[in-house]
Amino acid sequence: EPVLALDGVEKIYGKGRPGEVSVLRGASLALMPGEVVALVAPSGAGKSTLLHIAGLLDTPDAGRVAIAGQDMTRASDRARTGTRREKVGFVYQFHHLLPEFTALENVVLPQLANGVGMGAARGRAERLLDTVGLGPRAGHRPAALSGGEQQRVAFCRALANGPALLLADEPTGNLDPDTSDTVFAALMELVRETGLAALIATHNADLAGRMDRIVRLDNGVITRG
Ligand code: ADP
Ligand code: ADP
Repeated sequence: EPVLALDGVEKIYGKGRPGEVSVLRGASLALMPGEVVALVAPSGAGKSTLLHIAGLLDTPDAGRVAIAGQDMTRASDRARTGTRREKVGFVYQFHHLLPEFTALENVVLPQLANGVGMGAARGRAERLLDTVGLGPRAGHRPAALSGGEQQRVAFCRALANGPALLLADEPTGNLDPDTSDTVFAALMELVRETGLAALIATHNADLAGRMDRIVRLDNGVITRG
């Protein structure tokens, strides 16, 4: 069963007003567990819109969205928020780590907010940081880490509560090519270890080519890369 299923998703901004823009025009996509899929499209094509709809941050004007077999299209805000917290992790181009907390604490905190006890949260945070090679840096605050290290912490934080689906919007967009490689390799380690499905918007053709599959967002629909 797909972790994420988008079926005929449409999105129109400013509907019925002058200048309305039809961004998604029947986009369909299914992600199976363990699959890492690159989402490639020019800037302005609607990648962020698609990721927000997939992550239940925004609703489509038409079509269906299901997460782990549950149709969320007409679910209440409360149900959508619950599913988002339980099943979805997000990573953005800029990490938004909490500057006054260490790397470890940044990965511990979302777990505490989710009701996990301190010991278990710490253990999981240490394992995740070890997986991306940051064990020795776990006690540092973001400002003491390089951009690539900060982004690796952001991945660990996104996976802190064990989501089934990772959505990433240009996660290596502000990193140099070598650092992008390291960060991407770390992401793949995390995916292989946790078995989650990931949809990763990227402009980097090199990285896209190393994922399991490429899909393109072209004129509001998903096509195979
Ligand atoms: P409505 O909520 O009535 O559908 P819009 O979808 O047009 O209105 O706008 C929603 C929000 O997105 C507004 O706060 C608006 O400022 C913002 N926004 C408008 N245009 C853009 C754009 N091109 N890119 C990102 N955000 C935008
Ligand atoms: P991408 O992530 O591929 O750059 P986006 O999903 O951010 O694309 O935006 C797709 C199109 O929709 C752009 O033309 C953008 O200006 C427009 N857009 C995005 N958000 C809004 C909004 N809230 N209101 C109106 N237009 C928007």
